[in-house]
Amino acid sequence: MHDPEMEDRSDMDDEYTEARIRTALESANLNVLRLALYQATGDPELAAMEVVRIPLRGGAFFGYLVADQHHEAIKEKALRFLLQRPDVHDVRIPADDELRAMMALLTGEELSDSEFRFGREELALEPFPRRAYWSGERPAAADDVRVVIVGAGASGIAAAIQFELLGIPYAIYERQSEIGGTWNLNRYPDARVDTSSFLYQFKFEKNYPWTEYFASQVEVKRYLEHVARKYGVHDKIRFDVEVTRAHFDEAGSRWRLELVRDGAVEQLTADVVVSAAGLFSTPKFPDIPGVDEYEGQLFHTTAWGIDYDATGRRIAVIGNGSTGVQLVPKLAQTADQLYAFQRTPQWISPMENYREQITPDIRWLFDHVPYYWNWFCYSSQVTSSGMQGAQVYDREWQKAGGRISERNDGMRAILTEYIRGKVGHDPDLLAKCLPDYAPLARRLVVDNGWYDALLQDNVELVTEPISRLTAKGIATADGEVREVDTIVFAAGFEVTKYMWPTEYVGRGGVRMEDLWEKDGPRAHLGLVVPGFPNLFIFYGPNSQPRAGAFLSWIEIWARYTAQAVADLLESGHRTMEVKEEVFEEYNARLDAAHSELIWATEGPVGKNYYVNAHGRQNVNVPFANHEYFEMVAAPDLDQFHVR
Ligand code: NAP
Repeated sequence: MHDPEMEDRSDMDDEYTEARIRTALESANLNVLRLALYQATGDPELAAMEVVRIPLRGGAFFGYLVADQHHEAIKEKALRFLLQRPDVHDVRIPADDELRAMMALLTGEELSDSEFRFGREELALEPFPRRAYWSGERPAAADDVRVVIVGAGASGIAAAIQFELLGIPYAIYERQSEIGGTWNLNRYPDARVDTSSFLYQFKFEKNYPWTEYFASQVEVKRYLEHVARKYGVHDKIRFDVEVTRAHFDEAGSRWRLELVRDGAVEQLTADVVVSAAGLFSTPKFPDIPGVDEYEGQLFHTTAWGIDYDATGRRIAVIGNGSTGVQLVPKLAQTADQLYAFQRTPQWISPMENYREQITPDIRWLFDHVPYYWNWFCYSSQVTSSGMQGAQVYDREWQKAGGRISERNDGMRAILTEYIRGKVGHDPDLLAKCLPDYAPLARRLVVDNGWYDALLQDNVELVTEPISRLTAKGIATADGEVREVDTIVFAAGFEVTKYMWPTEYVGRGGVRMEDLWEKDGPRAHLGLVVPGFPNLFIFYGPNSQPRAGAFLSWIEIWARYTAQAVADLLESGHRTMEVKEEVFEEYNARLDAAHSELIWATEGPVGKNYYVNAHGRQNVNVPFANHEYFEMVAAPDLDQFHVR
């Protein structure tokens, strides 16, 4: 489509005229701009400016803005600087002390040692801030090692890149026909990230030209494909191959794998296995009677046919998690009738810049202001990490009559107000929409137009429990049957099947599944398990960070894994297996840390995928981001039996 405005803007993109710069600066995040400028110029006036802490989501976390009186000065200083056409290579990367002081200027708060070390990597000033290295020359033993990575989603790609850089032979096996993992599997209408694109990216790939603040499924998949090709790992992916079994052969000290390709079983050996199978890869089918009787179209959101047309249809969507809430408003635009079946209300929250385009002005800033992208991403991480504070019980606050903490209760109040503002004119609907549990006890859901959709004439929110499916539709406990021609299960994923569909059998013939039967999946650091030498699990038990940039953690696990293999080979050994006592001690600390957090106790019982059948939170790390970072930043071979 011809868009004269876009045409004009793109002509201006490489200009450093005063008019162009002034226009772009109007869109700048001025605190971020201040830091980028300060790094480039060292102007003490920039350092001295006042920062104001703004409560967000009722004080659950905070934004950091530079005080109003400095705005014009920052823009004028930026204009003068940018008129000189600065080159990023002319701007030096500060030494650690200087950098730490600079990072503190963003918020006005000092950083602890570990916050600085984690934050330094998040700022990503070096080309490849997180990578594994040989301590000396690459050893000859590296030629004989074979690494198998199971899964070509973000985790598998990140792991492969580390092995590629070290020069360790590897192959990736992927059961789908295309790259992207969950971002290939989930193609339902309007699927997109619900954390900022600037948090959903690798730190080694600078300034990717995202078109939206919250990238669509198509764009995330394209990004992962771009990264895999650029860093040379795409050719090592074997698509349409399912790794069904991995058995550790003790005599040979290596893994024996069974693969299924084109229906035929193949055998393969590997020295090291990385399970990058993903948490959101195995669809969950709700156990509802009558599924076989239903005569209409029925599918899980992961099975979405891209050409499915909702126009004129009577559709039931079962589930209102992140997926259902993203999907329903889109289907409701054209469906004849849509029934949204909700078992439990969610805290569904508005999100700034959701569905917004990155404007040419913002792009100009990323492309032309040295290190603006770095400080922007870092600032996003700092703000979003603040959410961790609202997940913790404040016992004094509770003694004084509060529910959880000032931050969490503040969030509850503001989200309640939001829901009231949307549907409060209808008391019945409001009662159905208001959760009775604490926000953040389950994953917060982003409002993609959910409440507005519920108000449409063709949409009904059904909260009466489902009793069964009939030939024509869905019967609820009150005896009513709603006839539909399509039923969509937006019922989520089997999140405790961490390594599905591969069966892992370790030393002594122990199956991982049996080991985890007792009190649910556990690992050391979420990554390694005693009895399973040279096996690394990505997105394993209790490894999801409490807030912030998810792909950063994938990078951190990838560095840990590749560094562990490099250290092992340099030590002259071939296998490493985490010591039982290290695993036990870590898990004791993990359980203790969980007791201070709201997840296991505040969410609806039996209806919270964070919590497993044993009542234990099994998805998230209980430690603060910077604390977990210290544990997993580098492997310690002393924690392993090496042979
Ligand atoms: P989910 O959060 O587990 O939600 C599943 C939904 O299905 C819930 O509403 C659940 O009800 C309902 N359900 C399950 N079994 C049921 C049954 N037997 N009868 C009736 N209802 C049933 O799954 P999800 O929405 O797919 O999201 C999973 C995760 O994927 C998210 O938390 C997020 O981490 C990720 N995700 C991210 C994005 C994004 O970034 N944009 C988008 C989608 C998903 P109850 O609440 O009563 O259990």
